[in-house]
Amino acid sequence: MNSPEVLIIGGGLAGLTAALDLANKGKEVLVIEKNLYPNHKVCGEYVSNEVLPYLEYLGIAFNDFQLPKIDTFQLSTQAGKLVQVNLPLGGFGISRYTLDNQLYILAKKRGVVFLFDTVTEVQYVQDNFSVMLSTKQKITCKVVLGAFGKRSNLDVKLKRNFIQQKSPWLGIKSHYENTGHPSNVVGLHNFPGGYGGLSKIEDGSINFCCLVRYDDFKTEGDIASFYKKIASQNPILKDFLSNAKSKFEKPLSIAQISFERKKAIENHVLMCGDTAGLIHPLCGNGMAMAIHSAKLAADQVVIFLEKANFTREDMEKEYQALWEKNFKNRLWMGRQLQTLMMHTNWFNFGMNTVANSKLMLRSLIRNTHGNPILS
Ligand SMILES: Cc1cc2nc3c(=O)[nH]c(=O)nc-3n(C[C@H](O)[C@H](O)[C@H](O)COP(=O)(O)OP(=O)(O)OC[C@H]3O[C@@H](n4cnc5c(N)ncnc54)[C@H](O)[C@@H]3O)c2cc1C
Repeated sequence: MNSPEVLIIGGGLAGLTAALDLANKGKEVLVIEKNLYPNHKVCGEYVSNEVLPYLEYLGIAFNDFQLPKIDTFQLSTQAGKLVQVNLPLGGFGISRYTLDNQLYILAKKRGVVFLFDTVTEVQYVQDNFSVMLSTKQKITCKVVLGAFGKRSNLDVKLKRNFIQQKSPWLGIKSHYENTGHPSNVVGLHNFPGGYGGLSKIEDGSINFCCLVRYDDFKTEGDIASFYKKIASQNPILKDFLSNAKSKFEKPLSIAQISFERKKAIENHVLMCGDTAGLIHPLCGNGMAMAIHSAKLAADQVVIFLEKANFTREDMEKEYQALWEKNFKNRLWMGRQLQTLMMHTNWFNFGMNTVANSKLMLRSLIRNTHGNPILS
């Protein structure tokens, strides 16, 4: 497919859901993804129910899996003081290995074409895009969606502001054999310089995923001693880590995770998911936002392709406005949390305060989550 109607750069959650939605509406879609499916990703793998009706509308058959239903949120301070609240909407646990692969299989069935390659450049000339791949192939098309995740070679190429700054955050994740962690609980447990999330996924394994400031991590230098000496300062994590058996040969990690402001449209490319902005994982909502933003973009693209009097400018304006309406405040909240986390004493104070007040914790959840999105 050398000139699809829509080309999507990146086949993670945002790219795959946008592709499926567009294909369901009869559009010709090409997804360019640099990695083969299935693959593991650094992610807490707790999905908010905000997106469940939409994913079902897209055609994902979750009944084929035994997904843990999560309705309870636990937060613990470094000293292990625990507070627990109900999650108003709740969510479910599923590995990215399975979720992305299911979306990929379904998208292929619905006619989406996949090319496994790296996009190296996107040019916008005379109301059309030229997209260059690492294999020197060049593809032209009318619409491009950017769904290339948190950090990509394309951010450098597009000279995006956030990529010029170093980010101090490191993410680490592994799956562990079932240790008896309750299926209905997602826990966030604080330790010096970060926190680790515990929740169950579809095969009964426990996902342990940490976000940590690089400066705190590097005092240990390797993941095993970071777990032992830093993460285990929280007694709940100490108990988990001393009994847990990893299913991965070694944990996955990603560095330079940026929560800085990004633009939702650059060079006429509509950005979706983390490419448009990543919310702090403490909010547990990045995947739902990625999927929701992909839906908003797909809706506008369909109108643009079908209505002669709806111009590119209209499409961009409308997407920008919808994006801000739905995500601006939540991302702002996430950035405040990040600022707090950069100051250990403030963060400990904040965690202790929240851990003493269910009311505050409920308010935090309310302010970082949205309402269910429908078709
Ligand atoms: C530590 C951590 C824990 C988290 N935990 C949770 C959680 O529990 N719940 C939750 O809802 N969210 C969580 N998130 C957030 C969530 O993981 C992201 O918001 C989500 O993955 C965004 O999906 P995406 O499609 O935007 O990006 P991705 O899933 O990263 O997809 C981007 C895709 O683009 C591809 N790509 C990149 N560049 C190119 C290129 N040039 N050419 C071709 N392909 C390219 C990549 O290979 C990748 O497949 C967490 C994030 C972190 C960092």
